[in-house]
Amino acid sequence: MSKGSIESYSSISIKQLKGKLSLSDDDLKQHRNISITVSNDYGSFALKLSHSPCNYGGVRFWFLCSCGKRCTKLYLKCGVYACRQCQQLNYISQQWNKSDIPLLRVRRLRNRLQWSQDLRDWPIHQKPKNMHYKTFAALVRELEKREQERLQMLIVYLHGMGIR
Ligand SMILES: [Zn+2]
Repeated sequence: MSKGSIESYSSISIKQLKGKLSLSDDDLKQHRNISITVSNDYGSFALKLSHSPCNYGGVRFWFLCSCGKRCTKLYLKCGVYACRQCQQLNYISQQWNKSDIPLLRVRRLRNRLQWSQDLRDWPIHQKPKNMHYKTFAALVRELEKREQERLQMLIVYLHGMGIR
């Protein structure tokens, strides 16, 4: 069975709740776990939070998944928010075959460069605004390297299919 990918599911992170939690010190002292209700476009969800003291004072909040794990992000699948492991989610890159990874890297670099995803297109003078020239040059160099890898992988693949 193929696992779903994280990128395609709605998630909620503990950061999003920051500032929205109004809990007194007493509340925190008395309750190790706190139940909250989160309402969003997908409905209302009862979630559990846990907390631990911060090194520099204050507290740090965690989601408490139904599996007992503390996590900073929960994913929505089939109407339930749960941790990545419970939802059996993977990052797209982990699902890809090894031979697809160079292509994925090329696509990511082109995204950062704000270049089109047409791989034949090399708008070498098109530096994104606000990007330092040094960064731009490094990214282009990296892209050249990754593009080489991608082509090599493609050649290996074609040879494997008997095409030379
Ligand atoms: Zn879980």
